[in-house]
Amino acid sequence: MSESASSGVQGMSVATAFAGMRSVAPVVFRAGCPDCRGRFELAAGALRLAIGASSRTTFYSFTCPECGAAVRKPAGERIVELLTGGGVRTLKLHSTL
Ligand SMILES: [Zn+2]
Repeated sequence: MSESASSGVQGMSVATAFAGMRSVAPVVFRAGCPDCRGRFELAAGALRLAIGASSRTTFYSFTCPECGAAVRKPAGERIVELLTGGGVRTLKLHSTL
C-alpha cells in the first residue's frame, strides 16, 4: 500500500522566515559641533526636531557627544524630511492648521 506520500510539509526557508522582518539597521545622521568642531554620527534617538511656524523657526538639536554642548541648527525642508523619515522625534512648536 503506497498512498501518496507527498505531504504538504516543506522546510521553511530562511528567506520565508525573514520575509516579514524589516531591515533594522539603525539610521544615523552625520552632524558636526560648532563648539569643538567634532564630527560624529548620531542615532535618530539622539536628535530632536522642532518644527516652527516658518522655516526660520524650524531647527534640529542634539547634544554634542564630545563636549556636551547643546547644538541647535536650522533645518530646511530636506533635512526635515530626512529626520522625520529616519524616526527622529518631532516637536511641533506652532500648530497652524
Ligand atoms: Zn562639541
